[in-house]
Amino acid sequence: MNRHPAPEETTHLEDTDRTEDTDRTEDTDRTKDTAQPRTPPMPSKLSPTVERVDTAVYTVPTDAPEADGTLAWDSTTLVLVTVRGEGATGLGYTYAPAATARVVDDLLAGVVTGAPALDVPRLNEAMHRAVRNAGLPGVAAQAIAATDIALWDLKARLLGLPLVHLLGAARDDVPVYGSGGFTTYDDRQQERQLRTWVEEQGIPRVKIKIAESWGGREARDLRRVARARAVVGDAAELYVDANGGYGAKQAVRVARALAGEGVTWFEEPVSSDHLTTLKAIRERTEADVAAGEYGYTLPYFEHMLAAGAVDCLQADATRCGGITIWLRAAALAQARGLDLSGHCAPHAHAHAAAAIPNLRHLEWFHDHVRIERLLFAGSAGLLDPAGGSLTPGHDGTPGLGLTLDAERAAPYRTG
Ligand SMILES: [Mg+2]
Repeated sequence: MNRHPAPEETTHLEDTDRTEDTDRTEDTDRTKDTAQPRTPPMPSKLSPTVERVDTAVYTVPTDAPEADGTLAWDSTTLVLVTVRGEGATGLGYTYAPAATARVVDDLLAGVVTGAPALDVPRLNEAMHRAVRNAGLPGVAAQAIAATDIALWDLKARLLGLPLVHLLGAARDDVPVYGSGGFTTYDDRQQERQLRTWVEEQGIPRVKIKIAESWGGREARDLRRVARARAVVGDAAELYVDANGGYGAKQAVRVARALAGEGVTWFEEPVSSDHLTTLKAIRERTEADVAAGEYGYTLPYFEHMLAAGAVDCLQADATRCGGITIWLRAAALAQARGLDLSGHCAPHAHAHAAAAIPNLRHLEWFHDHVRIERLLFAGSAGLLDPAGGSLTPGHDGTPGLGLTLDAERAAPYRTG
């Protein structure tokens, strides 16, 4: 199947461009005559194309053993997608298996290469169609996500704008919450991490993992929550994430205990696959029930919202098909009067997050913050959470503002 535009379509596009070019020339002349403000900067061609797509895989060991309620890990893999066009380079990424890069190389690069670089929704749709037989949820959606983010970055760079200004800002500040608090941490490690966020960085929201060993260590969970509250005091919001590790009745019981510690966010108390159970827990607890991080498609979010399963929807742009789909998930939540919270990968989300009115916050996730600072060291777009919020695009750096530090990244390259 030919995935590239048919020759006659290409010709039509070029004809249209020439027409617009002519109009623009006349507009420019009129502008000169009447001393009106100049038109905004535009690429030298009106229809730059994507000339090249590349992938790279980086695996970074954690700085300590990490686990949540249902999974343990000692390294994290980032798949980087780079797209080039008209002398500019856009980058996007996802935290996913190395196989994700192969999906980009085999199924997506041919769809995107040669296509109009400014038409990101068109390319996002074309990528979705290209993976039909591979199966969208999971690795394919993550491959699309990384490529979509790279395409938005490229477009913003071609236009000379921070991505938030290309999308259109709905806010200046993007609130974040400190996230980590792994079940593998001892009291000292947990306390040090919480104090870094709350006392050193001034982030007034923190989250720790609970449901250790699939809910098998409930007493330790509650003790760790109590210690966390004692460390951060009453001024900081305290969140917990069970990663789907509890059973239904256990989650309700734990929720009652958490209320005593003033916990206001109970993430995935049970598996996010069980929407009616999430709804039942939501109705029995005052804490906001949140889920959505495993959403790989737009219908997934619609089903979760329609079931009344969450008080705040979560979505991950590096999983759900990129910024294009993440913005649509935000609209679905807004239509039901709910907020959206961005899951992990904070530097991939920050600009899009500033473009939605119903943002709750972004997850300033220990693992990913560490990796993004390592791989993109020195980038003007590296964000500072001081005071509890980010200000993406504040210095005018085009795109996401991130540049791979190839020298620092090289030792971690695995594909
Ligand atoms: Mg989570």
